[in-house]
Amino acid sequence: MSRVKVAVLGATGSVGQRFIQLLDNHPYFEVTHLCASENSAGKTYGDVMKSRWKISSDIPAYAKNIVITTPDPSKTSGAALAFSGLDASIAGEVESAYANAGIHIISNSKNHRMDPKVPLLSAEVNASHLEVLDSQTTKGKIITNSNCTIMGVTITLKPLFDRFGIESVMLFSMQAISGAGYPGVPSMDILGNVVPHIGGEEEKAEIEPLKCLGRVENGKIVHADFPISAHCNRVPVFDGHTVCVSVKFKQKPSREEVLSAWKNFSGEPQSLALPSAPNPAILYREEEDRPQPRLDLNTGNGMTTVVGRLRPDPILDWKYVVLSHNTIRGAAGAALLNAELLYKKNFLG
Ligand code: NAP
Repeated sequence: MSRVKVAVLGATGSVGQRFIQLLDNHPYFEVTHLCASENSAGKTYGDVMKSRWKISSDIPAYAKNIVITTPDPSKTSGAALAFSGLDASIAGEVESAYANAGIHIISNSKNHRMDPKVPLLSAEVNASHLEVLDSQTTKGKIITNSNCTIMGVTITLKPLFDRFGIESVMLFSMQAISGAGYPGVPSMDILGNVVPHIGGEEEKAEIEPLKCLGRVENGKIVHADFPISAHCNRVPVFDGHTVCVSVKFKQKPSREEVLSAWKNFSGEPQSLALPSAPNPAILYREEEDRPQPRLDLNTGNGMTTVVGRLRPDPILDWKYVVLSHNTIRGAAGAALLNAELLYKKNFLG
């Protein structure tokens, strides 16, 4: 079966590089076009990325000789789908232009996330939300990922929300510097330091899980209805967002019930055996000092959500720690999993 031709928009950024790595020899998708800003356009990907490639494996051979263009649907003809890792200042407009031109968009940017017609898709959590794509009138459809900080949190909440109901959530993040893109946070601001503010992050962390955990009624997503309070911090870690979470439940589960809900959690990516589906989706570590970014980040090729330190919370009911890889599970890997789901369910035509 021939592979679907795809473009990567924002191919030179932190998320774009992950796309390039994860799409190397992909069974469903073939990268034919790479796009970035005017600064990179007209040069080969290999030339532009010589000093900008930040992943420990080499730049895949397939990408090196592709000449970068600016993101314009007329310059990416032949591609049926575009993965977007574009800067948010431009993503909204460009992604809409692609959808209008009949090219599907799988986006990591915030711009379309809260549009009621756009699924905020986390493939294990809310594959049923693909139903709302029918309400998009463009030939190309837009699908987004959630914010990288709450990706792992939402995955851990999903089986608990379904079984026990949730009254409220508090979360405290320790977010890696790669989450700010490249070159990102100046080294003099972050080395040996903690920055207790990330613009717009807490607002996203307090609303996006509610859309992901929502249900579809009459073709519309009805958000889950509980308050989330988020504190978001930047810490001097290269990759991997760690989040401390406290949850108050409608029906308080036992420790064994929480652990069993996580252990048995899987979704359509696992049942369809999608190439990027992690197995397990959630891994609980019994050690008292895990998860840690340095030790646990690459669990399941960076796609498994790693949890630990489940213990009683004296104010809410239970508290725990979640780690997820921000540029893989929180961005490019999740977007690729979403695209694999669309492919397998014949949404790509
Ligand atoms: P980044 O490293 O700053 O990369 C931004 C990309 O956008 C680069 O390829 C850049 O091209 C391109 N770009 C910027 N301005 C442009 C313009 N005017 N026209 C065309 N292309 C333009 O950012 P990132 O961290 O990869 O994040 C990309 C998106 O994903 C953002 O919306 C971010 O919020 C979201 N996100 C990031 C993460 C993460 O962990 N980093 C996780 C989830 C979601 P040049 O190199 O040519 O400038």
